[in-house]
Amino acid sequence: MPVYQSEALILRTYKLGEADKIVVFFTRDRGKKRGVAKGARRPRSRYTGALEPMTRGEVAYYEREQRDLVRLNFVEPTRSPLSAASGEALGHVGYFAELIDEWAPEAHADERLYRLGSSVIDAIATGAPVDALARYFEYWLLRLQGVYPSIRQCPGCGAALAEGAAMPPRETVFLCRTCVPGGAGPRLSAEAMGFLTRAMVVGPDNLATLALGARAARELEAAHRQLISVHLDKDLKSARVLREMRQP
Ligand SMILES: [Zn+2]
Repeated sequence: MPVYQSEALILRTYKLGEADKIVVFFTRDRGKKRGVAKGARRPRSRYTGALEPMTRGEVAYYEREQRDLVRLNFVEPTRSPLSAASGEALGHVGYFAELIDEWAPEAHADERLYRLGSSVIDAIATGAPVDALARYFEYWLLRLQGVYPSIRQCPGCGAALAEGAAMPPRETVFLCRTCVPGGAGPRLSAEAMGFLTRAMVVGPDNLATLALGARAARELEAAHRQLISVHLDKDLKSARVLREMRQP
């Protein structure tokens, strides 16, 4: 049985039998894997605290011939989301993990997606504003997949989009407001467009310099939700939970 060791992000776990868990993790060098963590549901398991979504750590696992499920040998966390300062940040880790889970390739490495996920953990741990972080993460995730629409020019008439944009329902393109009459679909203000322009050149460790007001954050959230649900052909469970948590 070949054994592999790599830095990895934990994405999610589910129960297996009485005492074990299946762990979905995203390795830096070989993409997404599913592995059995023996005894992980026992009270004093060596995996306690190591399998939270968005934990980064060293992972060792055996690969078995003809089997998709690998077998975990150990997980040694180097960065845990449990060190996050705020409950709001903790509430988001499941969302970040679900997005990576949806897009991480199974058979090969995706170094840029790995680095994005890893830097988001660091930003959470250092107390970055979580609303801006979530919109930044969605933006970069979709950009890395090559599915983020142009934020510069309206494809309908060529007008600049810096002053605002609109996304027709069920579409994945930003048009100028003249080309999208009426109120249907997400609309982005100049502030939201400015955030996207700066997000292109600012690293996640400098998010504090990327101001984002609550209204612009909701605009971007709605546009990104539409992009994600059109591309995945579904709504993410964790995104719905976050919206429900926010309601008064
Ligand atoms: Zn236009």
